[in-house]
Amino acid sequence: MRKNNVLNGTCGCGNVKYKIIGKPLFTQACHCKDCKKSTGSSFVIHTMVLENDFQVNGDIASIELPTGSGKGVNAYFCIICGVYLFCKYNISKGRVAVRTQTLENSIEPQAHIFVKDKDPWIQITNKEICHDKMYDREKTWPNESLERIK
Ligand SMILES: [Zn+2]
Ligand SMILES: [Zn+2]
Repeated sequence: MRKNNVLNGTCGCGNVKYKIIGKPLFTQACHCKDCKKSTGSSFVIHTMVLENDFQVNGDIASIELPTGSGKGVNAYFCIICGVYLFCKYNISKGRVAVRTQTLENSIEPQAHIFVKDKDPWIQITNKEICHDKMYDREKTWPNESLERIK
């Protein structure tokens, strides 16, 4: 497996710093209504990583929020500036969804999901990576990433 550089991220005030020490599994943009609410914007970008590859330093708070699946998600924030840094979905144990734009360098989404709820002024040129709702992970994620979550 290719060795990867460490990816670094921070909150808005610098109280919380985190590192991703392994290769990210998958990066996706979500246009659903819950993600719009939590970002105050048109979509969120999440980079999925293994919990074992994720290290956080600084004071964080968390809250459990409802999700479409009914299983819920735990969202994590800097206690000082309130920036929402990452979350853990109860249906994907052992994985963390990092808010991609809190990283030093952004990562281009490999998929757009819940495009049915996309704002009409957002244009996605690559239609092949657009999904009306959720995708079938087995058909969408790279094999290398599927192997790592087994
Ligand atoms: Zn902060
Ligand atoms: Zn969403």
